[in-house]
Amino acid sequence: QKPLEYYQNNISGTLNMCEVMRNHGVKNIIFSSSATVYGDPASVPITEKFPKGQCTNPYGWTKSMLEQILTDIQFADKEWNVILLRYFNPIGAHKIGEDPNGIPNNLMPYVMKVAIGQLPQVNVFGNDYPTPDGTGVRDYIHVVDLAKGHVKAIEKIEENPGVKIYNLGTGKGYSVLDVINNVSKAVGKEIPYVIAERRAGDIAECYADPALAKEELGWEAQYGMKEMCEES
Ligand code: UDP
Repeated sequence: QKPLEYYQNNISGTLNMCEVMRNHGVKNIIFSSSATVYGDPASVPITEKFPKGQCTNPYGWTKSMLEQILTDIQFADKEWNVILLRYFNPIGAHKIGEDPNGIPNNLMPYVMKVAIGQLPQVNVFGNDYPTPDGTGVRDYIHVVDLAKGHVKAIEKIEENPGVKIYNLGTGKGYSVLDVINNVSKAVGKEIPYVIAERRAGDIAECYADPALAKEELGWEAQYGMKEMCEES
């Protein structure tokens, strides 16, 4: 889990950056946050009004803490504008390709390593969640849609909005088995999988209500699961 490294890099690094920004009169920041700050949500879809929750790892806590730190900075100096973008599950590699070293932690890169024969099978972390097929449900978002959300956030921050929070998700939930089936279709062969133990800290369901980003940023996800699988 490497808490020291996460806190050192994410918290200290961002604090240093904010200090440099302030010293140079740069007071607009768009922060890459995460849906992990919601913890285990009381229900889905998740709106920005949902309370922040208990994160399950140091990475999540750095996101949650940095949201607070940036909010505090803006509260103390109203010349700041802070847009917190809460990413759901970004996937896809748009023309660049993705080839992580070692064994991936995240589902899509893992499934892709199975697809090319580098790993034997996908371990599905639990099939006894209260979801339609028992496997975990997430809101996967195409990396290009995510990037476009940032362009819209840059336009928004020019209006001096103060602190704003937006979910960047599609609003649709896909289970682990949905993802495996979609990748099987995209690559034209069955992806082997086995049902394994639940992974500690995982929640059953997490998907966004992306209405606020549509209303205030004029942004919504364009790509679906098919494109995400074809471009991973
Ligand atoms: N998952 C899985 N096998 C894996 C990796 C992930 O079954 O090898 C599941 C995980 O339990 C979750 C979903 O896939 O339900 C997405 O996991 P990921 O780590 O990609 O993102 P998270 O939502 O946990 O940040």
